[in-house]
Amino acid sequence: MNTPISPELVSKAHEVLAEAQRVVIFTHMGPDGDAIGSSLALRHYLESRSTATQATVIVPNDFPDFLAWMPGADQILVYEGHAEQCDRCLDEADVVVCLDFNDPRRIGPVGERVQQKPCPKVMIDHHLYPTDFATVLISDPAVSSTCELVYYFLRQREGESWHPSPEIANCLYTGLMTDTGNFSYNSNRPELYEIIAELMRAGIQKDVIYDRVFNQYSADRMRLMGYCLYKKMRLYPEHHMALITLSIDELKQFNYKQGDTEGIVNLPLQMGDIFYSVFMREQEPKPGTTKNVVKVSFRSQGDRPVNVMAAEVFRGGGHANASGGDFYGSIHTAARLFLREYPKYFKKE
Ligand code: 5GP
Ligand code: MN
Repeated sequence: MNTPISPELVSKAHEVLAEAQRVVIFTHMGPDGDAIGSSLALRHYLESRSTATQATVIVPNDFPDFLAWMPGADQILVYEGHAEQCDRCLDEADVVVCLDFNDPRRIGPVGERVQQKPCPKVMIDHHLYPTDFATVLISDPAVSSTCELVYYFLRQREGESWHPSPEIANCLYTGLMTDTGNFSYNSNRPELYEIIAELMRAGIQKDVIYDRVFNQYSADRMRLMGYCLYKKMRLYPEHHMALITLSIDELKQFNYKQGDTEGIVNLPLQMGDIFYSVFMREQEPKPGTTKNVVKVSFRSQGDRPVNVMAAEVFRGGGHANASGGDFYGSIHTAARLFLREYPKYFKKE
């Protein structure tokens, strides 16, 4: 199997981790299946390798309910609302591992603290343009997911005789599955399927994982999806683009819960002639601020990068076909800005 991490990086990272008794694993704001999957997989690995190691996963804000079944999810610490406990844990750590993000700003207010902490940091990630804040930086935007990278990291370290435990296998599969939309994008490398075969031999039930993650919508979420498609989707045929926006009031009507809008941005791409899809969700101002925050998600197909607009207009970034950013102000102002700017970035065909 082609393993894309250089052996030197693997040894360096393992050297750092071998000495560590207390490890804190951070992953990004709005944690998804790859974020939680890679973090828990690494935690299980580190703790099974040595009983002297204690590894804690910290997320900046809560993760969606459809990931709560994952082994170890009940021990994850949420920074938002539990800052003191998390800060204490971070203070006691000998090593910090950053998974599925490459810029300290992606973990919110605690990012600064992580950056300042004088201890070795290992970063494993698959997004473009990593910032230079880790002691060991393992980054490859060509792979499907951070879970895929964590798999290589463990495989390269442990050698061919290593078999992932069922816990590790369940966690890694979840990230492979969610970051590729159940293997419908970013999923053309044959190595991915060799990993899946291996995880299945380790005991995962892939159809059960699919059901636990993708078939867990509430009635409110189904109705919100219907509302988005029926009432809110605006089409821009010249650019083969769809835009959906949701205000705070609209979200309240559907009793919005964290994760309820996950995946809505992908729906318009199911139309044959839509190649760009943009979704905007308005949120209450962050504590200590007055402006609403609008979270913007971009998706596209083929050679139509959306990360440049995400970076230049919405201070975000991401992959060529899936990126995001945010905007401080009302949903109407955000939409107006987007509608003014997109012709500079999107192709007319
Ligand atoms: P989503 O639309 O699912 O929130 O995010 C899709 C992808 O866009 C993420 O995997 C991440 O790569 C990127 N992304 C989303 N929001 C941000 C952001 O605020 N900043 C950066 N740099 N990337 C983002
Ligand atoms: Mn990811």
